[in-house]
Amino acid sequence: MDHFEIKNGEVHAENIALSKIADEVGTPCYVYSKATLVRHARVFADALSHLPSKHIAFAIKANPNLAVLRVMANEGYGADVVSAGELARALAAGMAAEDIVFSGVGKSRAEMDYALEQNIGQFNIESEDEGVELSAVALAQNKVADCVLRINPDVDAGTHAKISTGKSENKFGVPIHWAEEIFDRLAKQKGLNLRGLALHIGSQLSDLKPLEIAFTKIGELVKKLRANGHMITHVDLGGGLGVPYRKGEILPSPAEYGEMVGRVCGDWNVCLMFEPGRVIPANAGVLLTRVIRVKRGMINPFVVVDAAMNDLARPSLYDAWHDFDAICPNGQRMTANIVGPICETGDTFAMGRDIDEVKSGDLAIFRTAGAYGATMASTYNSRPMVPETLVDGDRYAIVANRIEPQAILAEEQVPEWLMGE
Ligand SMILES: *Cc1c(COP(=O)(O)O)cnc(C)c1O
Repeated sequence: MDHFEIKNGEVHAENIALSKIADEVGTPCYVYSKATLVRHARVFADALSHLPSKHIAFAIKANPNLAVLRVMANEGYGADVVSAGELARALAAGMAAEDIVFSGVGKSRAEMDYALEQNIGQFNIESEDEGVELSAVALAQNKVADCVLRINPDVDAGTHAKISTGKSENKFGVPIHWAEEIFDRLAKQKGLNLRGLALHIGSQLSDLKPLEIAFTKIGELVKKLRANGHMITHVDLGGGLGVPYRKGEILPSPAEYGEMVGRVCGDWNVCLMFEPGRVIPANAGVLLTRVIRVKRGMINPFVVVDAAMNDLARPSLYDAWHDFDAICPNGQRMTANIVGPICETGDTFAMGRDIDEVKSGDLAIFRTAGAYGATMASTYNSRPMVPETLVDGDRYAIVANRIEPQAILAEEQVPEWLMGE
């Protein structure tokens, strides 16, 4: 459920008419609903309320906007970060360092150093070499790093290949077949408190079965590690829950997920950790856009909008579907291709789609754009960086400014030795 509904003939975000934001901020522009963010954060946490010991860290790569992170911090969420930049954001948003988990396959020595200085809660180690290096960095600071070992369980998550992370050919974690020996060796590192395991098999999962298979494998590994004499106190189950991108699509609910976790992992006697990303902000955000013109096409008309693949990359990256709705639908329908202005054929949001009838100057939204939307934006084609806004009841704020091409141009220079040529 979200808070983007038609009132008096016009789509509102909570109590704010989207035309008001378009007039005042311009388009394209992201609009987030705070009530929806809060609702999703609570639904997810409530679904896990039966677990005696748990920790929830929002995977901030899904939406790292500072104001969004502040909402999550206010809801008691920690952060799962994958770079020093994300760590700095989580801290700036007021998240407690001890509630921050550092994931990622390529943590640099400088990033480990910084994270240890900040005393973050946990490192999720992705390889034996990374563990050895983390231990050395910790010892140099006279510290012991709390950490878990990320396992690649070799399970097909059944999602898009580019967001599948738990197959043996994927770069993430250590192969489950080597887990016991690597754990034995890393547990001896003086700078590490290796206290458990982590996994994350992929994103936009539409079925709980692959997760259940993976969790079952991890449960067996926990038993083996304990039999080998290791203390296992933490298991990080990652994120991955999918969200409905199309009207009427049904996906596993957080409650069903929580029930499965309780059934499969409930007797592990560990602190269960979670890294939800998409499921919290996806349906809490839309990309607001204006139709530049409707161009005749041989088969279908092209609705050329002022948003493009640099603002919302998911359709071009993953062939993703985003529902497209007029802000003031007139009740008529049309079949059209929806495209942006960028000079790439990949800058296409939809082909031959049945949509609200729109014409030049009309406002529209791409729905379910709150996750992996603005965070992937670029300035390709020297377009502005897309701004972001947050609505709360009958007020809203700009939470990320539009960055104009001139500001980016100002960061570039021609070397003197080219000038004379
Ligand atoms: C991306 C990521 C997540 C979040 O994934 P969602 O599918 O957005 O829930 C969680 N953990 C790790 C390690 C990730 O890389």
